[in-house]
Amino acid sequence: MKIKCAKCKKDAELAPDYSFVECKECGLDMSYGEYVRFIAHNEATYSDILSDYTGSTEGETSGTLDDWED
Ligand SMILES: [Zn+2]
Repeated sequence: MKIKCAKCKKDAELAPDYSFVECKECGLDMSYGEYVRFIAHNEATYSDILSDYTGSTEGETSGTLDDWED
């Protein structure tokens, strides 16, 4: 069946018995277990980047405001 490729976001093929995932667009070829971990890892990384980005931006913004008020 067709699923979204975790790498290039195009159509990848999931084996009917869930044994492997194969994407002809980017050459992704891994077991379904690896595929699930690949997605989980990517989403965890993405969340980390987002929280880091939000945290540092807020810190800089409040610091700047304090400087201006002084
Ligand atoms: Zn792909």
